[in-house]
Amino acid sequence: MHVFRMTFLASKSGAISEDQIEEITSFHAALYKNGQAIEREYPIWINKNRVTMNITCLEKNSLAKCNCNKYVLNHLKKLSELGFNKIHKSYLGIDPSCIETCECKASSAFILFSTYASYASPIRCYDCFKNVPLYQFQPICNFEFLDIMTWYNDYKACDSLQMHCSVGERFALKQLGDPKSALSKMGLKICEELAKQTKKPFYYFLMKHYGISKRDELQRKCPLCKRPWLKQKIHRLFHFQCKNCSLLSNVAYSLRRRN
Ligand SMILES: [Zn+2]
Ligand SMILES: [Zn+2]
Repeated sequence: MHVFRMTFLASKSGAISEDQIEEITSFHAALYKNGQAIEREYPIWINKNRVTMNITCLEKNSLAKCNCNKYVLNHLKKLSELGFNKIHKSYLGIDPSCIETCECKASSAFILFSTYASYASPIRCYDCFKNVPLYQFQPICNFEFLDIMTWYNDYKACDSLQMHCSVGERFALKQLGDPKSALSKMGLKICEELAKQTKKPFYYFLMKHYGISKRDELQRKCPLCKRPWLKQKIHRLFHFQCKNCSLLSNVAYSLRRRN
């Protein structure tokens, strides 16, 4: 991932107003909802008549105009109306802690994916499992990817609950593993829409946490169409696949830890 620094230079000297700061924050939010900025902590600071912030992106050209949607462009216009006459962008370098971005010429399929620790794109390439920027797709509604980011953050929240094993663990495991849960329904709907749009399979991952035995696991069936799972080994995470329902699943984590 690539880190950029953006400096907003106000034409008038003097204090930066609350409106100007609010607009910069909204500009970052619009970049985030368009997949141009990845949700990392973005330091923002004021020095005299300039405001500076760091932005983490998936690609070197993530912030290019061709990747901006109408909301991002509107915020840029508003920033100029609010007195920022110059916006300077500089490249700081690579963030080594993040998963790389897919460079496949044509991915054969995609996976909607997130974890509690995920700071990436909600969409992964099926072939290399690296990030695919959201702005490479068409938004499902209203010109931005708010629905996908909602699913992504809700998934992260549920995965955090199950990881902490303290509050709402049962609720979280149901959301993550049951194809009829509100979270899964939301994710499956997104996969269905994006599969229609890209004309490629879009897989949804159903997490299996607790299992009785490995034998039981191997006899599990796809919970939607009830056909036997296709046994697979995909990116060391997924062991079961149903091409009919575009689902992926895993051998229960509790059993894998014991072995
Ligand atoms: Zn790829
Ligand atoms: Zn199925």
